[in-house]
Amino acid sequence: MKCEERLLLLDEYWAGTMAHGTSAAMEAHWVGCDSRQAACGVIWQTFVRCRAIEPYELPVEFHDRLHRALREQWTMKLNRRASHQNVATSQP
Ligand SMILES: [Zn+2]
Repeated sequence: MKCEERLLLLDEYWAGTMAHGTSAAMEAHWVGCDSRQAACGVIWQTFVRCRAIEPYELPVEFHDRLHRALREQWTMKLNRRASHQNVATSQP
């Protein structure tokens, strides 16, 4: 499997839905890969650092404000995208 093909499986790996043997092979590749173009080492270091983060329970009020703000931002982004697509498809 090529480095680029492994990138397509990152979601599955991170979600933990990949077969153990396959995920172990992915990790072995990322640790040892010397391809400078694929940035496999960077991917692996990112995983290692993310796993080291201790979960922190946000105060409820902050949690709600953060989620509301994120939802608003995503809604605006999706509306802009839909609006742009409507304009693009309505032109002759
Ligand atoms: Zn690689």
